[in-house]
Amino acid sequence: MQDAVTFDPDVDALETQALETDASESEALLDAKAKREFNKLQKRLRRQVGKAIIDYGMINEGDRVMVCLSGGKDSYTMLEILRSLQRNAPVDFSLVAVNLDQKQPGFPEHVLPEYLERIGVEYHILERDTYSVVMEKTPEGKTTCALCSRLRRGSLYGFAEQIGATKVALGHHREDILETLFLNMFFGGSLKAMPPKLLSDDGKNILIRPLAYCREADIAEFSRLMDFPIIPCNLCGSQPNLQRQVVKEMLVEWDKKFPGRLENMFKAVTNVAPSQLADRELFDFVGLEEKQARQRAARIDIQQER
Ligand code: SF4
Repeated sequence: MQDAVTFDPDVDALETQALETDASESEALLDAKAKREFNKLQKRLRRQVGKAIIDYGMINEGDRVMVCLSGGKDSYTMLEILRSLQRNAPVDFSLVAVNLDQKQPGFPEHVLPEYLERIGVEYHILERDTYSVVMEKTPEGKTTCALCSRLRRGSLYGFAEQIGATKVALGHHREDILETLFLNMFFGGSLKAMPPKLLSDDGKNILIRPLAYCREADIAEFSRLMDFPIIPCNLCGSQPNLQRQVVKEMLVEWDKKFPGRLENMFKAVTNVAPSQLADRELFDFVGLEEKQARQRAARIDIQQER
């Protein structure tokens, strides 16, 4: 009996120890799995950003890239991936992060400077009270985002010139591009989206979108795992653009129901056949007879040479 009494606690201790070992082993396994998943995700984003940069000649030797940082998941991810690519890039380029403080009530001014100091990136905080202008100029009941974005772009592009930035990097991703394509078709009567690289209308800035090939879901997951200090964009109290929201939901639904559809749609944006559309500026439909005559003459020449 005595033995049993003294032995029992040891059995308990051994069992507890075994359970603890099991738990710590499975925790370690989970950790390793999570790490593997994170590495895979990071690699995929790096690969896609690197490919977009090469495909569109986005960054060249000596470029000073101004990274527009709003404090949202997309711009944090863009900065992080560009920083990691910069370390092994075949060309030498520099990065400067710029945030526009639009003077929205409640904007947490300390968040971005603290983050950027911590990671050691050169940065500027540009202060422009676009918030008051937007509130004053937008009619009651209308959404403020269009004017707000226009003013933001104007301020940022002007500042890029001031600091000698040769490229302005924006954090739009694949879904942003597809949403814009549909919005332009549905409401603008034009077949256009957001290009991965663009010369601004005044010719002063070259804009690049390094996340053009990246899925929004990957960016959201990366941002979550990196625990970026996100600043919401709706501090101004604006409703999100309703039409964009509707198109976004449509794409999310399609992605769930028809895997691969978004990939194909994005591929279509990169694979345009002007002769199969109806834009007379892009394709000379009127001159088809002349083209036919030229082709006929060329065929006859070849036959005669044989
Ligand atoms: S939600 Fe507010 S801050 Fe964001 S783009 Fe719209 S108006 Fe501007």
